[in-house]
Amino acid sequence: MTKLGRELAAQGINVISLSVGEPDFNTPDHVKEAAKTALDENYTRYTPVPGYPELRKAIVDKLKNENGLDYDISQIVVSTGAKQSLSNVILTLINPGDEVIIPTPYWVSYSEMVVLAEGKSVFIDTDIESNFKITPAQLEAAITPKTKVFMFSSPCNPTGSVYSKDELEALSKVFEKHPNIFIISDEIYEHINFIDKHESIAQFPSIRDRVIIVNGFSKAFAMTGWRLGYIAASKEIAAANDKMQGQTTSGTCSIAQRAGIAAYEGGLDSVNKMKEAFARRRQLVYDLLNDIPGVKTNLPEGAFYFFPEISSFFGKKDQNGNMINNSGDLALYLLNQGHVATVDGNSFGNDNYIRLSYAASDENLKEALRRIKEALAKLV
Ligand code: PMP
Repeated sequence: MTKLGRELAAQGINVISLSVGEPDFNTPDHVKEAAKTALDENYTRYTPVPGYPELRKAIVDKLKNENGLDYDISQIVVSTGAKQSLSNVILTLINPGDEVIIPTPYWVSYSEMVVLAEGKSVFIDTDIESNFKITPAQLEAAITPKTKVFMFSSPCNPTGSVYSKDELEALSKVFEKHPNIFIISDEIYEHINFIDKHESIAQFPSIRDRVIIVNGFSKAFAMTGWRLGYIAASKEIAAANDKMQGQTTSGTCSIAQRAGIAAYEGGLDSVNKMKEAFARRRQLVYDLLNDIPGVKTNLPEGAFYFFPEISSFFGKKDQNGNMINNSGDLALYLLNQGHVATVDGNSFGNDNYIRLSYAASDENLKEALRRIKEALAKLV
């Protein structure tokens, strides 16, 4: 959708993009300064495969101070983004035929990474009624002797749902009964949480050694292009990731790593400012979505996405008589008719929804939602 949107924009059409998954803010100045200094100080050579020790120490301190979690730097592997970390973990853990349980909707790459590792995704479906969260009973029912990994994000992309401490604890009780299952906890949206403090499933000692925290700098510090992420895991898993990465990409960019140290050492002021803007826009989009007949939404608790239900438009026709049969048709219609780029829910494992990112200006959000409302009203 982003690509199609860009093509329309190249033809001179004013397209508003609500399809991208990155903050519309600049990287904070103190982080940019650290990168400039890194260049001047000649941090330009190969880096240690798991990352500079100073960055891994900054990550250890962050996990201790912000999350109350104790890790040693030997348990941290820095990568070229949370995406590479997820891929490393899947490739190191999954053998052909192993099952990976993934609640839907999920971030698009999860299932494709499992395919690349020749594993099998087992989906647990959720919907807007359950606030897109699974129950312990659903988890228990999905587990088989072949289950190797459970993989989820909280706050979630694409739904914005956030698991509470109690909900995570209830899931941890299920994992206690199944000691061979690893848990990949994607916490990349940790700081964009509107309800409470972030809770990690790694906090429960009984399963702690099997939890792999995946996190990074892309969302919290508006550093998507810098490519900087990491895992925190048991020493064995960390060592396996180090080995995998050593034969593929090696250590990530020296300059990005020096900037990452400044990001973690510089505190959360910039993140909190960004969060304030997201909180305001979340309310704005929530009110505007609720004003569109046929669209059903919840109020997401984190990240910067809405995942509204749009299946009431299936079976309707556009002005040229083309039928809207699925979320892909609707997203395409909204792009071509309303000039707003969104993402079809099918890409995230649930076809009854579309995803809207509100990492856009208030002005653009108001105009985009006006266009969406107008375009949907024309379907008959
Ligand atoms: N996990 C989720 C849930 C994401 O939304 C994204 C980015 N869209 C990533 C991981 C990847 O982040 P990174 O830029 O650090 O690779």
